[in-house]
Amino acid sequence: MTETTAADANPPPVHPDLFVSIAGGETALLGMRCEGCQRCSFPRADVCCWCGHDDVTSVTLSSRATLWGWAEVHTPPPGYHGAVPYGMGVAELPEGIRVVTRVEIDQPHLLRFGAPVRFVTTEVAADDGSTRLTWSVEPLPASVSSRTEPEPDAEPEPEPTTTIDANR
Ligand SMILES: [Zn+2]
Repeated sequence: MTETTAADANPPPVHPDLFVSIAGGETALLGMRCEGCQRCSFPRADVCCWCGHDDVTSVTLSSRATLWGWAEVHTPPPGYHGAVPYGMGVAELPEGIRVVTRVEIDQPHLLRFGAPVRFVTTEVAADDGSTRLTWSVEPLPASVSSRTEPEPDAEPEPEPTTTIDANR
């Protein structure tokens, strides 16, 4: 896998150690795995947020995820200088963690609970008026063929995947 650190990007990233660009125009978040409990987390830290173990290994997380939830923001929050509307949501990674993320909403018909998404980068406005690069998710084209309207008696979203480790 070819990785390009976000620090090489122009515009610069919101933080240098959060994500990398990988092959295919996708982006991968930089997380860590705990050698004590084997769980992953994001962002990287000196100790495991699950068990407090300090033997952690840096890992590049999956660039694909599942859309767990999202909202379209039409009113800019205080201090926000970017365009509205924009999407915010939560993506669940195969590593079993959920990440708060921007969501690309230019194809709203592709957004649904449980939709496959991929991480990409997007530009945001910083407080000083400059432009920064951050991560976002966009629906995968495959979601076009798998998209179905929910049945009237169907649950509107999939059952949340438990993140509780029974071995703890
Ligand atoms: Zn741990």
